[in-house]
Amino acid sequence: MSDIETRFRALQDQIRQAELHAHRPPGSVTLIAVSKTRPVAEILALAHTGQRHFAENYLQESIPKIQACANADLIWHFIGRIQSNKTKEIARHYAWVHSIDGFPVAAALNKHRPPSLPPLNVCVQINIHQEPRKGGVSLQEWPELALSISKLPNLFLRGIMVMSPEHSTLVQQHSCFAKAREALLSLKPTIPLLDTLSMGMSGDLVPAIMEGSTMVRIGSALFGVRDPSQK
Ligand SMILES: *Cc1c(COP(=O)(O)O)cnc(C)c1O
Repeated sequence: MSDIETRFRALQDQIRQAELHAHRPPGSVTLIAVSKTRPVAEILALAHTGQRHFAENYLQESIPKIQACANADLIWHFIGRIQSNKTKEIARHYAWVHSIDGFPVAAALNKHRPPSLPPLNVCVQINIHQEPRKGGVSLQEWPELALSISKLPNLFLRGIMVMSPEHSTLVQQHSCFAKAREALLSLKPTIPLLDTLSMGMSGDLVPAIMEGSTMVRIGSALFGVRDPSQK
């Protein structure tokens, strides 16, 4: 087995164990491979082992990669900061966007989603602790923003993306992820189709799954540690 396949199998085991431990059905957590900075050859190697969901942070970098993988039938997720002049391309090339951080971005994605494609699946990024280096809206802004987005015909509001605070303890990670879960549940009576908690990365996937994550976004634990000069 290649290194990447070995890491992929180990990660699948780890996710399965965490699901069991959390008394959740096997397969309730979707693994998204974060392929930022990684070459097409590695994406295709992983796709060959059966991985279908991939995520990118930087639009420019991602488009040639998405095009090069067109025959592999992959599902692409955009998880980076969204500049308003990039919404047109994002709306054309992606199936999911996790990093919605305000109504203008949502409205622009809605406007640019090609009619030939199904609605774009979106999550609102919540910045629970209002960390300046991260994007996202506050917990207080979530209900009103979610209601407005849920009315846009070319978007399908699925849920929330969060990241635990930098250098946080396990207890702080649990608390952050539990807040996201509560925010999702609080709106489910109003927007019944909400079903997604995009939370958990290489360093905190177990607490995320314990708190109800449905999508973990994993980069370094799959592909190896990234060059520190690149994010
Ligand atoms: C880079 C990135 C990830 C993956 O991080 P790892 O620690 O390498 O698993 C997940 N989510 C977002 C938003 C990212 O930018």
